Amino acid sequence: MAKSARRKVKIIKYPALDLSRDNLIGYKIGGHYNGTDMFEEKGELPECPECHYRLDFQAHNPLYRQGRKRRSDLLGTYDGQGIVTKLFHDFCKEQDYANVRLLEFTNDPDHFHLVVDEPVLKLDIERMRIRFLNRCPACGNYEEILGPYPLRIMRSDVLPDGFYRSDLVFGGFSRKHPLIIIGLETGEKMEAGLKGIIFHGVYGR
Ligand SMILES: [Zn+2]
Repeated sequence: MAKSARRKVKIIKYPALDLSRDNLIGYKIGGHYNGTDMFEEKGELPECPECHYRLDFQAHNPLYRQGRKRRSDLLGTYDGQGIVTKLFHDFCKEQDYANVRLLEFTNDPDHFHLVVDEPVLKLDIERMRIRFLNRCPACGNYEEILGPYPLRIMRSDVLPDGFYRSDLVFGGFSRKHPLIIIGLETGEKMEAGLKGIIFHGVYGR
């Protein structure tokens, strides 16, 4: 893939909101569900003794398999984990995104688990009207965190080329997960060389 290849990124629009004057600084990336969970059995991971939900929302299962091949280079498990292809893996290596972890599966050499630990971006929870439901007093996690769109973060400059993650995890129960966010330039490169990625706009202050 040519490093100079660029293409306009198509993002999901929210017609009820006028974002035309807003400050687009990056994209959240995701994929369609692939019909599997990273961890299928309850009890495979350490869980909170009080709420009984998992405590690690990016845990890796080396025995996971996606099974049949798909056309998309990024798909999501029901428990919120990004599963990427060799092409996505090679894209990250080629572009030298050093903070992206691409974890291997013992029985599925064609796919990798996409994990980003840092840098962490602080979401603008006042402006996003996120709903936090039922905080567990033991682990401090909420049972559900809902309504992340449109995404707004607590900075105003365009995100430099690369990968980031949100400070909050979204979703519910044991299926909560952080959001993976990329720079504008990163999105253009992805749109030019990878397939099936769903982009949501990330807006600054
Ligand atoms: Zn708990």
